[in-house]
Amino acid sequence: MNSSNSLYPWQQPTWQRIRTMRSKLPHALLISGKAGIGKLEFAQNLAKSLLCIHLESAGAACNLCSNCTWFNEGTHPDFRLINPDQDTDNVTDEAPSTKKTAKKSVVIKIEQIRELNQFLALSNHQHNGLRIVLMCPAEALNLASANALLKMLEEPPQSTIFLLVSHQPQRLLPTIISRCQVVDMPMPSESEAVDWLKNQGVKHATSQLSYAGGSPLLALKQAEEGAWISLAQSLSAGVKLNPFTSAPLFLGASLSASMDFALTALQKWCCDLLSYKLSEQVRYHVEYTSALQALSKSVNLNLLLDFNTELIYAKKMANHPLNNELQLENILLRYTQLFDIKR
Ligand SMILES: [Zn+2]
Repeated sequence: MNSSNSLYPWQQPTWQRIRTMRSKLPHALLISGKAGIGKLEFAQNLAKSLLCIHLESAGAACNLCSNCTWFNEGTHPDFRLINPDQDTDNVTDEAPSTKKTAKKSVVIKIEQIRELNQFLALSNHQHNGLRIVLMCPAEALNLASANALLKMLEEPPQSTIFLLVSHQPQRLLPTIISRCQVVDMPMPSESEAVDWLKNQGVKHATSQLSYAGGSPLLALKQAEEGAWISLAQSLSAGVKLNPFTSAPLFLGASLSASMDFALTALQKWCCDLLSYKLSEQVRYHVEYTSALQALSKSVNLNLLLDFNTELIYAKKMANHPLNNELQLENILLRYTQLFDIKR
């Protein structure tokens, strides 16, 4: 839980707009927009300011009152955060695994909504206060839990505000959307995002941002991981890349050490290689344009297209318990064979 009021610069106009609605806020808001632009942080700030009893003049939470203290500690009795990552020990959907690789749930389960019902049946902790339910990402609701939530939205409990955060509102039930007031969260402009990244001490901010598809928070995370830069350096070697020393580097590059990250990095690189070959354009690896230019001269276009298809397939299989390192070695070996020059 964030302990300060960390609104991002591109969120200020939306914040001011909602602030003016504060006294007549609808019982459900759908905060929607692209992933990686800070929607959850915005919703948390909003929740905290709605609970705070000593608001600052700009409408931000004071961070000093008992409500703010509880909120920052994650123990506010009138606040619930519902997300798919909650402990599902009591839910026996899957047989207990002997390995320590139990996957985090990707859905908001009906049990979580039932528990919410019990919470909302209790009286508010604060006399005349509000209760806030924050759900993120709302598209993680499955059909059963979405229908259970819909019942609550149709007969909203007193003094309760639902904040639904969604990257993919098109996956929500239309009946849920119609019960919410939609708040479209803006993407920052490129210059705004680059300035913000530079303020966070991010080097190569423009490249980082384009690699993250324009999402500043994702760009910051990438920069902190420093991952893709070392991978781009390896891939620049083309035919000279050593699959056996590179595979562990790829797998160990991200903090999450995932096959998915390694394959995404390869896909982005090959997308740039293809794009340079066909139109001399580079989308993700702007600072590696000269390396991509050099590789594009020797890359075999047909093999590259096949390789891209192979990567898509490998990504679908990325969660299978294969030997990732062995699989990645094979993929990287195939990468070195894309180039029509002697080793
Ligand atoms: Zn406060």
